[in-house]
Amino acid sequence: MKADIGPYTYSIRFRKEPGKALGKNKGGLPKDLYGLTINGEQLIYISNRHSKKVQQDTLVHELLHAAWFASGLGSLHHPSEEETVSILAPMVLQALQSNQELRDFLLDDQV
Ligand SMILES: [Zn+2]
Repeated sequence: MKADIGPYTYSIRFRKEPGKALGKNKGGLPKDLYGLTINGEQLIYISNRHSKKVQQDTLVHELLHAAWFASGLGSLHHPSEEETVSILAPMVLQALQSNQELRDFLLDDQV
């Protein structure tokens, strides 16, 4: 599954342990990670050990991390709430509009 976020196209992968994607450079990440975004490689990992509802929530969470990265908001000292929401909202909309499989996964309410 893929998602366009700003100028980037992220690949979304489902794994039992997303932290394993980092190999030995896991640092202090917990073993039971729900999701992980690697911005440098445009990769999002979602743990498939949890319910679909949890995976949906985790994927939105990780998409927002990707949008935060793509927006450059992290380089601002204290972006305001309005600035943050105004920049992230169109990126979330873009991600949803970019991929039918992503929409089907996130909008499935039969979970
Ligand atoms: Zn997070």
